[in-house]
Amino acid sequence: MTAVPVWAQLVYLACAVGFILALKGLSGPRTARTGNLVGAAAAVIACAVPFFYVDLDHVVLILVAIAVGTVGGVVGARRVQMTQMPQMVALFNGVGGGAAALVALLELHEILEQPGGVDVVGWFVLVATAFTIFVGSVSFAGSVITFAKLQELMSSAPLVFPGLAIVFGASLVAGVGLATQLALSPAMWVGIVLALVGLLFGALLVLPVGGADVPIVISLLNAFTGLTVAAGGYVLDNVVLLVAGTLVGASGTFLTLLMAKAMGRSVSNILFGALKGGSTLGAGVASDRPVRSAGPEDVAIMLAYADRIIIVPGYGLAVAQAQHTLRELVDVLGERGADVDYAIHPVAGRMPGHMNVLLAEAQVPYEQLKEMDDINGDFKDADVVLVVGANDVVNPAAKTTPGAPIYGMPILNVDEAKQVVFMKRSMRPGFAGIENELLFEDHTTLLFGDAKDSMSKLLNAVKAL
Ligand code: NDP
Repeated sequence: MTAVPVWAQLVYLACAVGFILALKGLSGPRTARTGNLVGAAAAVIACAVPFFYVDLDHVVLILVAIAVGTVGGVVGARRVQMTQMPQMVALFNGVGGGAAALVALLELHEILEQPGGVDVVGWFVLVATAFTIFVGSVSFAGSVITFAKLQELMSSAPLVFPGLAIVFGASLVAGVGLATQLALSPAMWVGIVLALVGLLFGALLVLPVGGADVPIVISLLNAFTGLTVAAGGYVLDNVVLLVAGTLVGASGTFLTLLMAKAMGRSVSNILFGALKGGSTLGAGVASDRPVRSAGPEDVAIMLAYADRIIIVPGYGLAVAQAQHTLRELVDVLGERGADVDYAIHPVAGRMPGHMNVLLAEAQVPYEQLKEMDDINGDFKDADVVLVVGANDVVNPAAKTTPGAPIYGMPILNVDEAKQVVFMKRSMRPGFAGIENELLFEDHTTLLFGDAKDSMSKLLNAVKAL
């Protein structure tokens, strides 16, 4: 292995600091863009450094691989819709885990080939190599399946079969056994079988997870990939990989815990709930019970004469891309003297921060975005709450119906408002697939239609008053 010169170590250190600054920047909407750029610049520099001190073979092939990866990344990132972001993250994450596992397999080959082989590197490097191969493969297979579920290439429902728990347990035992074997008496075949068992374990880990839990599993697999890359950094004696991997591992773990908390679930319940016989999805059937509906003109009157209005954005707002028209409507209502805020539920939409990103894109002032805990006490004083494409995050079943998939999830207290208006296309339920009693209450009105279309009509009707 080539010794890393001091100048390269210093550049790696600067890149590692860049990653930490990037995370800091990403933690607030005002600084997120700069944080992203700082992180990307540090990654590019870290990738370029080895070209200046390592005596590389196959430089042309490496450059071609980098070019293909760059084009794929740029085209993918430009084309992806905001609502497809979780699948994109799953795909990138899986590729990262798979790459780390392959690098560890190649490193194992090098270790076995070099004079003195195993005795030179020591057992700890072998443990790190085994960890990278196994967990990287788990992450790859798990991410590919979560991608397929979210992209609807396969059913997003939990997939269980008789004996799943036994095969799952056996593959875990086999993985630990093979990793121990690799550390004690390394051989190439052990590494390859370990990778295959990792692929099986990763698939079995994710197949029983369904519906709304899939994005949480992506976050968990992201943490796995981070730890894999950190272990790979140890094996390769590369400090920047070590730091970057640890940061991804730590932030992925935090995100997983925060998302699970926001949904009122435990991580073990999310991963093993279906194995124990529980389902993570409801039936998902549209209700035919009567509701009160109104046209844009009626809702415009309600809004135009309200003093306190709260907007609840949800997944449907993102699907309809109605955020710009919504902001215009809020501006007009504000000019008419209404006090208007947006109530942001931590898991509204399909990824953490989804609504913040969506509304920031429409230039909504940050001061108008109120977190759930800050605004939940205000709903009882609201004259009108306008729910735009949200459902589960306002569903009282989370408080009242034990056994419902969302039971225990903190929700926005929309049911306490004087008037509630739902903008949605039909009586179909939200992501959790369960009916929302709030739709049938006396103080609720439904404005049916695609949110963008209805929002334009509503805006025109308010302007006309
Ligand atoms: P929901 O999925 O509960 O509801 C979305 C609503 O939008 C539906 O009622 C749908 O009704 C409506 N809708 C869809 N398209 C349109 C459109 N074009 N115009 C108007 N309405 C539309 O969304 P919420 O944001 O309330 O809840 C998020 C869900 O996602 C929760 O269950 C959460 O647990 C889950 N989740 C969130 C994650 C996150 O990090 N944010 C991660 C993982 C899961 P209709 O079809 O009738 O129009």
